[in-house]
Amino acid sequence: MQIWDIAIVGGGTAGMTAAIYGARAGKKVVVMEELICGGQIVNASEVENYPGIKSISGAEFAASLYEQAAAAGASFDFRSVSGIEEQDGVKKLLTDGEPVLARTVILATGARNRPLGLEREEALTGKGVSYCATCDGAFYRGKVTAVQGGGNTALDDALVLSGLCQQVYLIHRRDEFRGERSQLTQVEARPNITILRSHTVSALLGEERLSGIRIRDLKDDTERELPVDGLFVAIGQMPQNERFHNLIELDRSGYIVAGEDCKTSCAGVFAAGDCRTKTVRQLSTAAGDGAVAALAALDFLSRS
Ligand code: NAP
Repeated sequence: MQIWDIAIVGGGTAGMTAAIYGARAGKKVVVMEELICGGQIVNASEVENYPGIKSISGAEFAASLYEQAAAAGASFDFRSVSGIEEQDGVKKLLTDGEPVLARTVILATGARNRPLGLEREEALTGKGVSYCATCDGAFYRGKVTAVQGGGNTALDDALVLSGLCQQVYLIHRRDEFRGERSQLTQVEARPNITILRSHTVSALLGEERLSGIRIRDLKDDTERELPVDGLFVAIGQMPQNERFHNLIELDRSGYIVAGEDCKTSCAGVFAAGDCRTKTVRQLSTAAGDGAVAALAALDFLSRS
């Protein structure tokens, strides 16, 4: 059975960057992707914060990454990986069929934004519903937006949006915020941010695009409608790494424990992008991680 030099789990920006670096170094590289290549960025209507590219749709960016990795010589295997085992220094990636064997593995499984779970949330994503103020905030310049969440991401999003939007509603399900006090103090000082404590978004309004939200006051259980142009959902992320915990150390939230060198607790297995412990999760940092993880894998191969 073929043994790949580098098997990459996840075909998002981190994984595809790693594939480009690995394949250009002449190694046998396979990218395992269960859906379509591109990762989270596929859903972005426009990307304006990737250095060197003024504006590009997420789908175009993803397609370009795929073409570049394929042209460099990377192979693709569109199957889901359900776990990893190690045998005599070779990593075995478990699938629903034949396992994939590799000398090194780069986990680039990303993280999924936690959805609110509201009706039509998916249909309105990119049409008024967003999960990233840093990515999409500029599309709401001068408009009215709302953020749901009470962690650091929600506080950061509210601050970013308050610099762009006419009015921002910060909606949190409790009275106490989970995010840092210093961030909350800044939010409270912004005249165009209205904080709605003990509230949640209970419905999304609008047909083709979001035109407003229905919010529920959790203290008296009353509801009212709020006209907004955009809703930013910032209620945390969901990593998808449980399947690797037999071999790889995860933190309490399920992220792979790995530093800037992308090394995990298992020799020869690296973690790149949103799936690893880090504070900034952006397209450019995912690409940076992909390069670092691939170079670390090449170094590992040269020593083993
Ligand atoms: P988080 O800290 O897990 O906070 C998620 C927030 O969403 C919580 O306030 C939670 O409410 C709320 N929430 C969860 N499920 C909900 C639901 N179904 N409906 C309504 N609200 C819901 O997530 P995060 O803000 O994305 O931060 C993730 C990690 O990255 C944290 O460790 C954070 O410190 C870090 N981070 C750091 C920075 C920074 O240092 N500048 C910036 C961003 C993120 P409850 O509070 O009631 O549970």
